[in-house]
Amino acid sequence: MIRQYELVDRVKKYNPHTDEALLNRAYVYAMKAHGGQKRASGDPYFSHPLEVAAILTEFRLDDASIVAALLHDTIEDTSTTRQEVDELFGHQIGALVDGLTKLKKLDLVSRQATQAENLRKLLLAISEDVRVLMVKLADRLHNMRTLHYVPEAKRKRIAEETLDIYAPLAGRMGMQEMREELEDLSFQALFPDAHKTITDRLKHLRARSSDIIARIEQALAKKLFENGIQADISGREKRPYSIWSKMERKAIAFEQLSDVFAFRIIVGSVEECYRALGIVHTTWPCVPGRFKDYISTPKQNDYHSLHTTVIGPGHQRAELQIRTEDMDRVAEYGIAAHPLYKDGASEEERAALAKDSRAYEWLRRTLEIITEGDSPEEFLEHTKLELFQDQVFCFTPKGRLIAMPRGATPIDFAYEIHTNVGNSCVGCKINGLTQPLVSELRNGDEVEIIRAEGQTQPPAAWESLVRTGKARAAIRRATRAAVRAQYAGLGRQIVERGFERAGKVYSDDILKAVLPRLARTSVEEVMSEVGRGEMLANDVVRAVYPEVKADRPVGRTEKVPGSRGLKHGSTLREIGPGAIHGASGSAIPILGLRADLAVRFAPNGGAVPGDRIVGIMVPGEGVTIYPIQSPELAGHEDHPERWLDVRWDMEAAEVLRFPARLKLTCVNEPGSLANITGAIAERDGNIDDISMVARSSDFHEITLDIGVHDLKHLNDIIRDLKRLDVVSSAVRVNG
Ligand code: MN
Repeated sequence: MIRQYELVDRVKKYNPHTDEALLNRAYVYAMKAHGGQKRASGDPYFSHPLEVAAILTEFRLDDASIVAALLHDTIEDTSTTRQEVDELFGHQIGALVDGLTKLKKLDLVSRQATQAENLRKLLLAISEDVRVLMVKLADRLHNMRTLHYVPEAKRKRIAEETLDIYAPLAGRMGMQEMREELEDLSFQALFPDAHKTITDRLKHLRARSSDIIARIEQALAKKLFENGIQADISGREKRPYSIWSKMERKAIAFEQLSDVFAFRIIVGSVEECYRALGIVHTTWPCVPGRFKDYISTPKQNDYHSLHTTVIGPGHQRAELQIRTEDMDRVAEYGIAAHPLYKDGASEEERAALAKDSRAYEWLRRTLEIITEGDSPEEFLEHTKLELFQDQVFCFTPKGRLIAMPRGATPIDFAYEIHTNVGNSCVGCKINGLTQPLVSELRNGDEVEIIRAEGQTQPPAAWESLVRTGKARAAIRRATRAAVRAQYAGLGRQIVERGFERAGKVYSDDILKAVLPRLARTSVEEVMSEVGRGEMLANDVVRAVYPEVKADRPVGRTEKVPGSRGLKHGSTLREIGPGAIHGASGSAIPILGLRADLAVRFAPNGGAVPGDRIVGIMVPGEGVTIYPIQSPELAGHEDHPERWLDVRWDMEAAEVLRFPARLKLTCVNEPGSLANITGAIAERDGNIDDISMVARSSDFHEITLDIGVHDLKHLNDIIRDLKRLDVVSSAVRVNG
């Protein structure tokens, strides 16, 4: 375990202005906070944050990062609070430690390798500060270095996660050395036998000739220079993980795998690449089948290079990659990891990938500035990570990671899983707690969607609540289908009653037979058009039975009664322009409030259960329900085909509300409006809208749109209002 003064010395080497007192305070604080806690290795727990801080000194990070590293496990694992850290070390360090605590919580979530890319983005989105990410990577690196003390099952899980998430992330950020160490440590934990075989073999090869890499480098450089090519050559022994993954990929036995040395030859131009290749091939024998020209045929990820393997100086196989500086940059950092040019990728996908690759590129440059800059302090303080902040990443209970635009709701989440899940979704739990479906999701939330069996229709209003195009399209589609089905269902009832009126019996088969005569292709289409009022039921009947007479306008047989004196239970047959009316028993039942669908209530004054009602069907608008006293019905008297015999079907109606309009004349004095609204609320009436007109200095006229359960409820409210001293008259109005 390194000592307090050693850590300070390391920081001082690159940062002479370091705040020694601050580092010392954090050192002592973290040591005390972790107290007697032990690591799996048996070491004091404090050795871990200390080592993490030490790793960060290699990246020459600022004081805030070093302190955050020392404190990174305190909030989660000790009694320390965020507030305490803020008070003792300032808000900046508090925010860093808080970020690390958030990331640590993420470790507990189960995950799938196929979601790795999204998990990396989630990590970046949560980090918010590049220093949080750096501490997190150093934390992971130290945990990997001490992984052999951890029980086997946990060890494998951590190693897999490191291989899937953290090693590639380090690579994207341009930290190739850290990537390789993370890969090798993971490989060792996951496949200890394979790892040992490969390292033993490498040891053996190294023992045979210790300076082999330098000798091959020199030989290559000399030969190229003689032929007028200035090349930058770097050779290295491949890492065990990279050797192993090549064996896996190519299914080669280890005995055959002798090219464990790899050399990169960087030249000035494409032309020089090919010339260098020619020189190499005429100087040393090449291994057959190993030459690849990724310059004339680049890989899908835009990787350009020439590959070959030769039996080089000292009869040692050497794998060579020849490329230009530009090609090297792409291979190292750039879009190599992104299948930008994947065939069949949509414009949108390409744009997203390009954006991602720019994000990683930005991150890499940022880290370069930190690790190479003279004074990273100020730069770090003003560098905020804004990567993937426009996205939000949430988990299913099984650990699947779903990426959505920021502002997404559980409804979006449900539709991301599957359209059927979205359509049948009725509720949700976020992190185990029941929450409204319109909640805004946050990074790392675990979302459980509650579905109702038999529910297939989302409320149309969801369309305006969701953020993803996928959810919006699905809701629109489902709503359209439901409206279509509703129209067709309504049309079917109208057609069946049309047949009944003509004394005939309807069946789908007889309608099918006359479809050509109606110039329609399906029964469904006919029903839907009748439901929309675009085709007359009588025309359908007459297509089958031409002898049936056409509907004619018939005057009303009863005077329209006023809002008082309605007799309950009387039939509707005598009220409309009778042509379409059957027996009252065959009236079309109007279900509760499905106002989002084909049936709506009279816009001026509504209709409530207990009212005698009539449906008016206007082509393209569906059915509007009017109480029979509505003066607006007069406007439809010349269109008997629009009149529909309807009745209330109110089994479960108590909870529903229906619209009605009241007109009040009331005294103009302070508090009168409060009296009125109070009286309505007292009776459990619901006020939807109020408009007020001053009639004189003494009186106001108020128009009130209210929601009531039925006619009795409405009349109770009217009676209560009339009793108020401030109200001089209260009447229901229609239209
Ligand atoms: Mn840790």
